[in-house]
Amino acid sequence: GGFQSMGLSYPVYKGVMKKGYKVPTPIQRKTIPVILDGKDIVAMARTGSGKTAAFLVPMFEKLKAPQAQTGARALILTPTRELALQTMKFTKELGKFTGLKTALILGGDRYKLNTAFTSFIILITQNRFFCNYELHFYAFSPLRLFEMGFAEQLQEIIQRLPDTRQTLLFSATLPKLLVEFARAGLTEPVLIRL
Ligand code: AMP
Repeated sequence: GGFQSMGLSYPVYKGVMKKGYKVPTPIQRKTIPVILDGKDIVAMARTGSGKTAAFLVPMFEKLKAPQAQTGARALILTPTRELALQTMKFTKELGKFTGLKTALILGGDRYKLNTAFTSFIILITQNRFFCNYELHFYAFSPLRLFEMGFAEQLQEIIQRLPDTRQTLLFSATLPKLLVEFARAGLTEPVLIRL
């Protein structure tokens, strides 16, 4: 089972090939088909396991479907600025041929809001952003939330998201707070661990 057998469309597959990925990593092999199937997942994967592509590749595949609605359709949360920057780099490289634009919003980047609303994917860190600027999530529906890592105000964010969404939680560990979040924010998640 290589990337070919996963049923990826050409623009998504081309991004993967351009990045030089020949075969999926174990975590990608387990998560990508489940995500493509539309399921919520909780995936435990270490840094270095290829987890970024594990959610970006199926995310691109899901988002490329033409929709009448414009505006943001995916939200990626990262716990740190460093990880947000790294994920942004991956998003640009892997998604190069999809035509999906990503806006990166780091804490305090209020002026970038307009960019965010015209992009398909929003990559964000520092969750205080949500409280300060009152993002209106109804504008995002239907949205797929691609969650990574763990943050204090996840519950607050979840409350503002539309009910119709696919939620993916990737983390190296599964602390109690994260388990609670998964219970509240995910629908019958498939647990994936290596
Ligand atoms: P990550 O765990 O997302 O930080 O990825 C760790 C490293 O593995 C990064 O340098 C990725 O570019 C690389 N990587 C991810 N998926 C694959 C793959 N299928 N084949 C080869 N390298 C990969």
